[in-house]
Amino acid sequence: MISRLASSIAPSSTLAITAKANAMKAEGIDVVGFGAGEPDFDTPDYIKQAAIKAIEGGFTKYTAASGILSLRKAIANKLQKENNVVYTPEQIVVNNGAKHSLVNTFMALLNPGDEVIVPAPFWLSYPEMIKMAYGIPKILYTSKENAYKLQPSDLEEAISTYTKAIVINSPSNPTGVVYTREELKALAEVAVKYDLWIVSDEIYEYLVYEEAEHTCIASLSEEIYNHTITINGLSKSHAMTGWRIGYIAAPLEVAKAAGNIQSHATSNPNSIAQKAAEAALDLSKTFAKDMVEVFRERREVMYKGLCEIEGFDVIKPQGAFYCFINVSALYGMKYDDQTITNAADFAKYLLEKEKVAIIPCQDFGAPDCIRLSYAMSEELIQKGLLRIKDFVSKLQ
Ligand code: PLP
Repeated sequence: MISRLASSIAPSSTLAITAKANAMKAEGIDVVGFGAGEPDFDTPDYIKQAAIKAIEGGFTKYTAASGILSLRKAIANKLQKENNVVYTPEQIVVNNGAKHSLVNTFMALLNPGDEVIVPAPFWLSYPEMIKMAYGIPKILYTSKENAYKLQPSDLEEAISTYTKAIVINSPSNPTGVVYTREELKALAEVAVKYDLWIVSDEIYEYLVYEEAEHTCIASLSEEIYNHTITINGLSKSHAMTGWRIGYIAAPLEVAKAAGNIQSHATSNPNSIAQKAAEAALDLSKTFAKDMVEVFRERREVMYKGLCEIEGFDVIKPQGAFYCFINVSALYGMKYDDQTITNAADFAKYLLEKEKVAIIPCQDFGAPDCIRLSYAMSEELIQKGLLRIKDFVSKLQ
């Protein structure tokens, strides 16, 4: 029999839907997939070349478990130049993707029964990761009226003697919401007041639009810095999802603990990917900026198209590459003889009938909402939108 812990962990529903859509595609069915959590761009050539050079140069052995010094220096340099925050290489741990950075962080911070506050809607892996570290996720619901942003007073009210940490993810997956500097400062000050850790997932940092601006929480004050674990990685910023490079930047005690855990769990992240990541962090390269421009245009197309669909309550995303829509106005409506009772039904029938894959957000703490990624060509976005419009117009 498997452990109680293992049986308490839910499978990732985003991966499940993507797998179903891919299986349909493999059967030759013309599916439009809005599920993607990754840029559709190829990894830039200068990064690939660095990896090829690493292979040819025989850089194919174990490295320091927390990552090679030159990469940790490059990360420290990036954090200083772009985020105005100073970390020594010893405060940085390179991991197998930011997902792994988060797991290591929770394992480094939590004792059994410690609570971690997770504002909803949240990226679906946070609660499961917290449980994997024997912590208790404490979900704190936000409202559309507050633009799905956690309010400092609600945070303060939710803190108990068991609370150890809070997760902040700005720009957010799935909502696309970006907190302002002032909003983050107000939340972080509550965390500092109660001596909580702030786990700040900044993986979508580069993907911000309009007037929104990314703020690195650790840069807000020395006290906040001392309470913050910055999580970031190259998956989204450099179209490097498959390379699996993420990192932790944290107070030394936490970085050491996370590095120690990693040294026993996985040892170093892939040596070749580390060399590629070091090249990727060359700040003179404009790949990320160019990619953001493309996403900005796609966002307009998708947002406009979604707003035209009756029954869709859409918020305009300021960051990441997702649109977040409340579909509860469609509950009770029927497609053939099947009634839509929740967002999961909507997603299921849409895939079955119109061959469009979207993510229902029940596992993101938002059961009335769906998430559509715009990490795909404008042409495909338009094609998918037409199908969704068609589907909704047939509802009775
Ligand atoms: N954090 C958020 C909010 C994400 O959406 C993702 C990926 O979808 C990650 C972290 C993990 O990224 P990776 O493990 O590929 O670095």
